[in-house]
Amino acid sequence: MKRLSKRSGVDSFSRIYVENKALEYPRTKEILKKFKHPNIIEIDHYKNVFNRPRQNFVRQKAFQNLILAVKDDSFLYEGPDICESFGNDNFYYASAALNCIYDCHYCYLQGMYQSANIVIFVNLEDFFVEVDERLNKLDSMYLSISYDTDLLALEGLLGYSKDWINFTKDRENLTI
Ligand code: SF4
Repeated sequence: MKRLSKRSGVDSFSRIYVENKALEYPRTKEILKKFKHPNIIEIDHYKNVFNRPRQNFVRQKAFQNLILAVKDDSFLYEGPDICESFGNDNFYYASAALNCIYDCHYCYLQGMYQSANIVIFVNLEDFFVEVDERLNKLDSMYLSISYDTDLLALEGLLGYSKDWINFTKDRENLTI
């Protein structure tokens, strides 16, 4: 069953942690505009919050916070053999967001990370650059864009699915 975590809705994050270097990114400004009174806490690096030891995933899931960050590297990963590529060659995945506002009991995200907070990487354009670089070396690519999250559930806040779809429009050898 797909259920929202207790404090449902993307406008209900009580805290929004923002990396210093993410503050000036246009996507950060667009996301923050969606909140009437955002409680912003500046941080040096998202891992200082997200990877903090002794967090309780289940309790935190009921009071999720948002973390806006800049991903430095590794924008693409090879799809693991145990995951379905539906017969496509060159299966990759990209994780521009980590964790989900839903709380499906069967989801592998439960407890995958130490934190239940949601990380959004605001430099989506860097993901696009790396996809283009890889596409130049391949005949085709099959890319999972929502691997560690549910991007559509966050679409009202991020618009990332729309941007990925637009990105595919003149890249016929890319399937997302
Ligand atoms: S990622 Fe998918 S399966 Fe997991 S909690 Fe979100 S909606 Fe449910």
